[in-house]
Amino acid sequence: MTQKTKSGIEEVHILWISEGMSCDGDSVSVTAATLPSIEQIVLGLIPGLPKVHLHNKVLSKEVGDDFVAPFHAAARGELGPYVFVLEGSVPNEEIHSGEGFFTAFGYDHETGQPIKLNDWIDRLAPNALAVVAAGTCAAYGGIHAMAGNPTGSMGLADYLGWDFRSAAGIPIVNVPGCPVQPDNFTETLLWLLNQVAGLNPMIPLDDKLRPTWLFGKTVHEGCDRGGYYEQGDFALDYNSPKCQVKVGCWGPVVNCNVPKRGWMDGVGGCPNVGGICIGCTMPGFPDKFMPFMDAPPGGTVSSTFTHNIYGPTIRKLRSITNITVNKEPRWRHRGSELTSGYDPRLGAQGKKGGTRGKD
Ligand code: SF4
Ligand code: SF4
Repeated sequence: MTQKTKSGIEEVHILWISEGMSCDGDSVSVTAATLPSIEQIVLGLIPGLPKVHLHNKVLSKEVGDDFVAPFHAAARGELGPYVFVLEGSVPNEEIHSGEGFFTAFGYDHETGQPIKLNDWIDRLAPNALAVVAAGTCAAYGGIHAMAGNPTGSMGLADYLGWDFRSAAGIPIVNVPGCPVQPDNFTETLLWLLNQVAGLNPMIPLDDKLRPTWLFGKTVHEGCDRGGYYEQGDFALDYNSPKCQVKVGCWGPVVNCNVPKRGWMDGVGGCPNVGGICIGCTMPGFPDKFMPFMDAPPGGTVSSTFTHNIYGPTIRKLRSITNITVNKEPRWRHRGSELTSGYDPRLGAQGKKGGTRGKD
């Protein structure tokens, strides 16, 4: 059912491409959303929203050319208002020495050739009402952009520019997480749809383009185990309910609401249920949090002191570390040069019997 909205926009398409460098985990994660659920958004059960047409390959009834048709229509300017969602990181297609590509979606009906993801971004992002990066790979590069990074992968803002603005004047909206926490994504989408409908002001984002109300606090500030930390009572293995900072938890310097929100409908939440926080929402993930199971340097220091003396000093140290891990590694950029440290000789190892150690 089409609803009258304040802005006059009555129907919005959500064009969701998951052909970034990804595992499709964000699409799968969002099927578990409850606040609101995808069903509530798509079935028009939320008052005041425009009618939503969701085009996501995991959640769509259409397949093949029928599924890709709305994306082609949007690229021709014939679809109507849409929000563009990218899942997965953006490879650097400028580093190829010859033919080939890293990832593509659909094909060109005239040439029969696959259409590169990067071409879809160039075609769809400028005319979208809003552009959303779903998950850490799309937001900052994530796993695919870690040291070595032979594909030159990067986040959407690295590709489009951090000062990019959509057709409606909205910055790129990053909803990181590996995968994205389902309600964080649908709640962000709900904000944007309300904004499109004329009911919400500009979405508040931090300098890493994350919604501030979702990523403004650290894991540690919402963790069920915080009381153990304050008592200097630390787990020495993973079978303990105590604070896990000595066995690898980075929670004190990571921006994420998962311990407060849980993973599905309030259940779970990494350190709450025994999983150390590995910083999966962060621009510096994964490189700056590895090796994962080692105690973070700040955690070792802080757990040495009792709660009577650690307070002000540790808070200062954390704010410095927080700034460092909020920066992406330097090799995530556009341009013809791959500066990630990847050694192409290693790629030839299988074919030529290996070159490693021969020079
Ligand atoms: S388990 Fe991690 S997030 Fe929880 S209190 Fe300990 S250090 Fe903080
Ligand atoms: S608590 Fe840590 S590991 Fe868990 S989702 Fe948040 S950032 Fe990722």
